[in-house]
Amino acid sequence: MSNECGKLYVVATPIGNLGDISFRAIEILKQVDLIAAEDTRHIKMLLQHYGIGNKLVSLHQHNEDKASEGLLEKLREGLSIALVSDAGTPLLSDPGMPMVKMAKEAGIEVVPVPGACALIAALSAAGLPVTQFVFEGFSPRTSSARKAFFSERLTCPITWVFYESSHRILDSLQDMAEVLPLDRQVVIARELTKLHETIVKASLGEALKLVEEDANMRKGEFVVIVDGAVIDKKEQVLTPEQEKILSVLLSECSIKTAVSMAVEITGVRKKLLYQAALDIEKAKQGR
Ligand code: SAM
Repeated sequence: MSNECGKLYVVATPIGNLGDISFRAIEILKQVDLIAAEDTRHIKMLLQHYGIGNKLVSLHQHNEDKASEGLLEKLREGLSIALVSDAGTPLLSDPGMPMVKMAKEAGIEVVPVPGACALIAALSAAGLPVTQFVFEGFSPRTSSARKAFFSERLTCPITWVFYESSHRILDSLQDMAEVLPLDRQVVIARELTKLHETIVKASLGEALKLVEEDANMRKGEFVVIVDGAVIDKKEQVLTPEQEKILSVLLSECSIKTAVSMAVEITGVRKKLLYQAALDIEKAKQGR
């Protein structure tokens, strides 16, 4: 990277409570040559609150390819730029991806300035497993697409998270209740860090009832977290085709090699294939 190029700072801003911004983020927003913002009017409130009078340019989902090219030129000229979205961490269901990609490809240094992010805030207070999770962005807009989306995740064994709007929270939970078991644990995290912050952990059936009965539970911004499915160990068996592949491999190679190759071919978990390989070998010996 040329020393003369500027840096691109990806700066997280609050998701509600204006206090949720780091000292470093404020310093960077003061020091950069330009702030590229999703909605310049919106971000002005935050900047005014912290006495930041920096120059703003607009970078939103409808102009970001073209705007990013212009900003890349400025970075090449040596200007430093802070990228911010309306709230939270840029790129996470927000604009910024083309800008960051272009900068990386041009060898420009991209510096994360971490802070608020609704999905992480929700997960941190949800009380559901977070060792592994899947973030799905926003759920689909139509009911049929949403039901398909929920069906595909019915057996997902780890926690999954999606963003939802006030217009769709009720429809979304109703669709979910048609597809997922009503006793599945969910967390509805609403208006995080704001005055009406509400974090409800309940079964899907109870959560739906609450949102149906309480109009306030349909107001604001939402993160929905769904507990992973408990997989019935008995259901973890190979298909006949997978078992055939494993048997053929076992007739030619050691257990270790056969299992490694079977993982590559079938995509099935190693532990499951290894156990199946032991069973096949045991059965052969018993013959
Ligand atoms: N980039 C943001 C982030 O880091 O979380 C997300 C931006 S996305 C356009 C906006 C969505 O994030 C909202 O519709 C809502 O689902 C979720 N969200 C943002 N702020 C929230 C808050 N304070 N409480 C709950 N959900 C929030």
